[in-house]
Amino acid sequence: MDNDMIVTSCEPEQAFAPVVPTVPVVPTAPVVPTAPVAPARPARPARPADVGGAAARAENAPPQQRTARHDLPGLFDRQLGIPGFGPQAQERLSRATVLVAGIGGLGGAAATYLAAAGVGRLVLVHPGVLEEPDLNRQTLMRPEWIGRSRVACAEQTLRAHHPGVEIVGYDRELADLPELGQLVAAADVVVDARHNFPDRYRLNDLCVATGTPAVIAAMNATEGNVLVVEPGTPCLRCVFSEGDPTWEPLGFTVLGAVSGLAGCLAAMESIKIIARFGEPASGRLLQYDLWDMDFRSMRVRSDPTCPSCARARARRQPEEPR
Ligand SMILES: [Zn+2]
Repeated sequence: MDNDMIVTSCEPEQAFAPVVPTVPVVPTAPVVPTAPVAPARPARPARPADVGGAAARAENAPPQQRTARHDLPGLFDRQLGIPGFGPQAQERLSRATVLVAGIGGLGGAAATYLAAAGVGRLVLVHPGVLEEPDLNRQTLMRPEWIGRSRVACAEQTLRAHHPGVEIVGYDRELADLPELGQLVAAADVVVDARHNFPDRYRLNDLCVATGTPAVIAAMNATEGNVLVVEPGTPCLRCVFSEGDPTWEPLGFTVLGAVSGLAGCLAAMESIKIIARFGEPASGRLLQYDLWDMDFRSMRVRSDPTCPSCARARARRQPEEPR
């Protein structure tokens, strides 16, 4: 995935100027802090119930969608004590469905950490078979699986590591998946890890139309982007009104650590939205370049001419009766 996006409508919200060290940055011995490096953060209040349609949908989900089947009682002990998290947040995760579109270096990392966190159901969509060059970043795959369906490989690894998670795989292009709209509508969050603009716009339009939160992640070489879209916040078309015409879907370079980081960030934003804890980065775009460890977070603006958002607004505000 993995597009080198060009920001067209953003304001810098927070940027970190490069720090020029005056001493070598590579330590010669393990650094053992003598005091806590960061004080414990105070507990944050849970997100209000009216933020994030995902959680509301999960609570109203029919019983068959409540798919948590974790048999190890201590499985989530290390995360239940996180301030603002707790059993309720865990239960929300266990009831949730996340659609992960693209199961390569980025989507595979996202799926890994969504499953590890206890998300109840993952829907994976990815076409094609595993090839040798995929193995520099796709940690759900094994060399002996070259030639097999990538989505089937991902299912096998995720099931082995996380048997309590229900996993549904589609070895299909998004454009060849007639039920895509239903899958998006039934998801609590969509992780967009595709590598081309047509797929990204297709997912974006479905998410905006159905009010499904989307976490859009991309990378190229050492750079990454993560955009979080919840109902009412700027969508992908608002921020990137047109795809890069020179973009070649598989023409970009990729280093596994870069795509893996974008996948982890996408998983974390999804978890926050579903579990209603922390502060999801809705309406913000994170851009990073690991070449020099530069991270920037920008608040993005809605585009009043965005056709996708205009259609959603029209649905929310039906015409007044005459
Ligand atoms: Zn929009």
